[in-house]
Amino acid sequence: AKQKGRNTWEWYNGEGQRDVTEFVLLRHDLHAAIQSEQFELHYQPIVDAVSGTVRSVEALVRWPHPKRGQLSPGIFIPLAEQTGQIIDLGRWVLRQACQDAADLLENDGWVLPVAVNISSLQFRREGFLQEVCDILAETGLPAELLELEVTESVLMQGAKQAISLIASLRKLGVRVALDDFGTGFSSLSYLRDLPINKVKLDRSFIRDMVFDRNCAAIVQGIITMAHHMGLVVVAEGVEEIEQQQDLVRRHCDYLQGFHFSRPVPLHELKRLPDRLPYG
Ligand code: C2E
Ligand code: CA
Ligand code: CA
Ligand code: CA
Repeated sequence: AKQKGRNTWEWYNGEGQRDVTEFVLLRHDLHAAIQSEQFELHYQPIVDAVSGTVRSVEALVRWPHPKRGQLSPGIFIPLAEQTGQIIDLGRWVLRQACQDAADLLENDGWVLPVAVNISSLQFRREGFLQEVCDILAETGLPAELLELEVTESVLMQGAKQAISLIASLRKLGVRVALDDFGTGFSSLSYLRDLPINKVKLDRSFIRDMVFDRNCAAIVQGIITMAHHMGLVVVAEGVEEIEQQQDLVRRHCDYLQGFHFSRPVPLHELKRLPDRLPYG
């Protein structure tokens, strides 16, 4: 499979022809996997930039495929988006993440907000707000402990609706973060109108800022601008202590990346010390 542009996937075989069989097979497997809930969630800590204390976690879906081993969400999420299966898969992810966070709260006394990735298709679908309400009621998770991560693509078909939906979610107490910030096309102007709480700086910036001065300048600019708008900033993909130090100097609020922890299953998350050792 080759990624073509941001959200378009085409399937090729060795001769460069579309591999329709591969597509159909995986789509079929995905259907079965959704029916039998073959997925797992892993959780990656998001830490306070200065102290290294865990402040929240991001839920990341995993598919242990019976024949192919772990498949990356980078492969099956775009496929599920293309086929519409993301609706059912996304609902499962949201419910499971809320259940796990409610479990941490009830059984471990750990007040840990959970961030869930929401595809644009899922977000823009009628009834999404109701779905969030139902899942919160069903799992007993306080709305304040749920954060939804959306990308700017939610604005593509009707910015007005997206803005009013975000406002409704905020009224419930649910927080909304803008994911992969800086990778899209119209990053700055619409920020003005979006009632979000947080921006997440894409990993590509964090990777390049150490050797690319322009990139570092963009990162600094985004942090400063976000703070002036009352938003908090998370940096993704922090792998080295130098990156942490640099981001602390630049007043980035929260950090996430392999330097602190990889995404781990719930039982491992429970064993993590509150303050991660590397912080
Ligand atoms: P994302 O939302 O940008 O998530 C961050 C990705 O970066 C995750 O990849 C995470 O494992 C990886 N990562 C975290 N720290 C580091 C680091 O220090 N270095 C490097 N190299 N990578 C790091 P993952 O889990 O493979 O997910 C890929 C993408 O798939 C996510 O990107 C997100 O867009 C999508 N995704 C994952 N789970 C879900 C889901 O439940 N629903 C939806 N709609 N999308 C999901
Ligand atoms: Ca994310
Ligand atoms: Ca990203
Ligand atoms: Ca993303």
